[in-house]
Amino acid sequence: MSSEDILPGNETPFDEAAREAVDLGNRLMDANPEADPWEVASGLLSGAVHFWLHSRQPCGDPNCESCLSVSDAQSRLMALLDECKAEAEASFYYHSPTDSNAGHA
Ligand SMILES: [Zn+2]
Repeated sequence: MSSEDILPGNETPFDEAAREAVDLGNRLMDANPEADPWEVASGLLSGAVHFWLHSRQPCGDPNCESCLSVSDAQSRLMALLDECKAEAEASFYYHSPTDSNAGHA
């Protein structure tokens, strides 16, 4: 996968983190071509999920508007899944020419 697939233009911290994650996956696969890419990708996703959840711990102020959408575990999970869904649907790789329903949409 090429990091250019997701990042044209000037890098924000978001862009840099996304690019570094893709680059890390590619480096891991280059270093171990026999590795299962699904396992490497799931490991990257696992790390990203843990990092994301850690970043969204509420500050402790029950009236904090910034933390409202992540104020409990279920809210955090829903926010995480919403963000994952948006990223997946925006991905160049979301649809594949080898999809079982390709050409039937
Ligand atoms: Zn807060």
